[in-house]
Amino acid sequence: MATIDGLPPLREVIATHDLRARKALGQNFLLDLNLTARIARAAGDLGGADVLEVGPGPGGLTRGLLAEGARRVLAIEKDARCLPALAEIAARYPGRLEVLNADALEIDPRAHLDAPIRVVANLPYNVGTELLIRWLTPPDWPPFWDSLTLMFQKEVAQRITARPGSGAYGRLAILSQWRTEARMVMTLPPEAFVPAPKVHSAVVHLKALPAPRFPADPRALETVVAAGFNQRRKMLRAALKGISQHIPGGAEALLDSAGLAPTARAEEIDLEGFCALARAWAATRSPC
Ligand code: SAM
Repeated sequence: MATIDGLPPLREVIATHDLRARKALGQNFLLDLNLTARIARAAGDLGGADVLEVGPGPGGLTRGLLAEGARRVLAIEKDARCLPALAEIAARYPGRLEVLNADALEIDPRAHLDAPIRVVANLPYNVGTELLIRWLTPPDWPPFWDSLTLMFQKEVAQRITARPGSGAYGRLAILSQWRTEARMVMTLPPEAFVPAPKVHSAVVHLKALPAPRFPADPRALETVVAAGFNQRRKMLRAALKGISQHIPGGAEALLDSAGLAPTARAEEIDLEGFCALARAWAATRSPC
């Protein structure tokens, strides 16, 4: 029985092309086209946008993106077995789907895309986190993309969107929220995938802000955040000792110039506080 886009159902696609899921490639496929359309809609208005999809697999999400009106989709897939299934989708949407058989960690897709660019992916979690960090730390801001809509383990999605005071709040929350608006937009049970993973998943939508929320040098911010959270149970005056050895008055003086209490813990410090700390620390490093 044909589906809404006239292509075969995904179970049939998988059987026809013998796409048995491979664990080594983190393959957990979404087979429900209503669900993939919902994920595509969570990416925002796709009309007039190019979409970078990483890890299209048999193409469920790809079909959602095209049906929801993406101007063009560039899909990067490592597993060559998926190419014939993706070629059928390209034939159904002439000129709108380009597929690259490549490792997304080793390719720069920018030459293939025109702005505005939205990134959408249901990726193996380790690859997804590594790509997220790369996408969030380009040499210049704003980045090449306007938004990222990414599936993660729910626990990782919680760390991306966590607020101060919660156990999930840490480096990933600060890195994500400093320069994007990050929201968890959907949660999915294991049964949404074939094969079912062990844990729940969630889709996170990150919209790039035109500029960081608060000024700070990215490397200085990373340094103070890493020091603060590496010993998250300690008070900051102890946790920051290692990065304050060159400062007269040590960590207490550093915290004082950032306007932060020496007895506070990293978990209680909001983005504004960490950016103030990064500026204060950077000022102690500047050549006079
Ligand atoms: N998007 C499809 C879906 O939602 O049903 C497939 C999702 S499956 C979780 C992850 C996909 O990413 C697989 O097709 C896998 O082959 C592909 N993949 C894994 N590592 C990759 C990499 N480094 N670069 C590109 N694709 C990769």
